[in-house]
Amino acid sequence: MAQVAVVGGGVGGMAAAIRLRAAGHDVALFERNDVLGGKLAASSAGGFTFDTGPSLLTLPEVFDDLLAVAGTSLAAVTDLVRLDPVCRYRWPDGSGFDHRADRHEAAAEVERLSPGQGEPFAAWLDHGRRVWEVSRRTFFAGPLESPLALVRRMRSPADLWRIDPVRSLDARARSVFSDPRLVQWAGRYATYSGSSPYAAPATLSCIPWLEQSSGAWYVRGGLASLAGALAGVLERLGVEVRTGTEVEAVRAGTDDVRGLRLAGGERVDADVVVANVDATHLYADLLADAAALRRVLRAPVSSSGFALLASVEGSTEGLAHHNVAFSDDERGEFDAIFHHRRPAADPTLYVCASSVTDPAQAPEGCENWFVLVNVPPASAVDWDAEAEAYRDHLLDVLARRGWDLSGRLRSVETISPLDIAARYRAWQGAIYGTSSNGRRAAFLRPANRGPRRGLYLVGGSSHPGGGLPLVAMSGAIVAAMVDADLRR
Ligand SMILES: Cc1cc2nc3c(=O)[nH]c(=O)nc-3n(C[C@H](O)[C@H](O)[C@H](O)COP(=O)(O)OP(=O)(O)OC[C@H]3O[C@@H](n4cnc5c(N)ncnc54)[C@H](O)[C@@H]3O)c2cc1C
Repeated sequence: MAQVAVVGGGVGGMAAAIRLRAAGHDVALFERNDVLGGKLAASSAGGFTFDTGPSLLTLPEVFDDLLAVAGTSLAAVTDLVRLDPVCRYRWPDGSGFDHRADRHEAAAEVERLSPGQGEPFAAWLDHGRRVWEVSRRTFFAGPLESPLALVRRMRSPADLWRIDPVRSLDARARSVFSDPRLVQWAGRYATYSGSSPYAAPATLSCIPWLEQSSGAWYVRGGLASLAGALAGVLERLGVEVRTGTEVEAVRAGTDDVRGLRLAGGERVDADVVVANVDATHLYADLLADAAALRRVLRAPVSSSGFALLASVEGSTEGLAHHNVAFSDDERGEFDAIFHHRRPAADPTLYVCASSVTDPAQAPEGCENWFVLVNVPPASAVDWDAEAEAYRDHLLDVLARRGWDLSGRLRSVETISPLDIAARYRAWQGAIYGTSSNGRRAAFLRPANRGPRRGLYLVGGSSHPGGGLPLVAMSGAIVAAMVDADLRR
């Protein structure tokens, strides 16, 4: 049995802590904020509740797998709702389709939008299934220390071809769909890892299949209640949880870790340190290691987000739980974010109104609009100077796309990349840690094994990347590595 210290109480940290405690280790978790969950967080005021981070849960089976080690299940600790439609998509010309939970109904919707495109849509999902089948048993099956580690897990060279890692997501979409709207729809999934469809690999084409096959889920009470549920499991298992506790340093010798130093000077001994903090924060501030920091900074950082939390009176016709209003200028949007490093003038708007499914999220007769757009990393923009103007601009864009909220707004709060950076110590306010931009992105992402014996990295900035299911998977990968290393 080892003494394990987990730094950070995001979902990846909690997942690792649950698994390591269930395996019999002595686990303590340190979180600087007063609540656990990290980016999986909520904000409430005046009867309105907003999920301020994740609003869509995919691959719930990853959480079932995690919770099974604690003798429970996701359905036992949360109130899960499968959404249908998964998302309502619309374009500036007024056209749109519902991505229905049933794949045949979804394909029929696409056919109605664009005759002749229902079949390519169905083929896109089928292809996604094949990509996922290979990715799950290769990329996601363990740590990724080198390209060779990935190749070794492949059954045959055909596996490499199946995951389509060389072509961009956009290039593949163009080869399948003749309607540019569907190319734009397919490319949007790159943003699920903070990436651009022009730079991220076509491997990401598996995401719509995942949404379809294992569902798009909401947790009644708000997604952030999943963090509360995981916190309850930590407590029941006997993990020592210390919130409001900033870790100031990872104590280490030249070869191995010794423990932590907390703000205020307290020293905590540990044989194993699991860092759930952003890898840049780890190597810049907690364990000064110039070589490791240089390597981390080579990984492409994910895009950040700018959000409006709009408390809206009345009800909006045609509003679904998840809505996407596409930009009229897809190329311009991604060029702005990833090349010119400016907020897009004509961004794609994502609107989540959980009150559509869960009326308790807003006062009676009202709606909680969480509006999110992708923006460049925090340092690219002077958000202190620009946030207010961009908020007003987004309200104008909403109005142009048919959602004029003027006269219905009780209040609008904003979340800028600076807020994301400050609240969670997220490097550059990155939503997903590192992005998938570029062919080498997966291999540049910080490894789960740190540069000292006993140091491990879990969460969005390390393998396999950001997003709730992925950081929970990284918890499983790290827990297995710790156990294997201790047995050696
Ligand atoms: C606006 C937004 C929308 C998103 N939407 C979705 C979505 O719909 N679906 C989805 O699956 N994912 C979504 N994500 C991504 C998802 O939230 C993240 O990938 C995931 O929650 C990150 O988990 P993590 O384990 O990396 O930890 P993080 O959430 O990054 O948490 C790290 C924790 O470490 C703590 N910490 C940092 N430094 C220290 C220190 N020195 N001492 C102690 N504690 C420290 C922080 O306070 C934080 O709590 C979204 C994220 C954002 C911001």
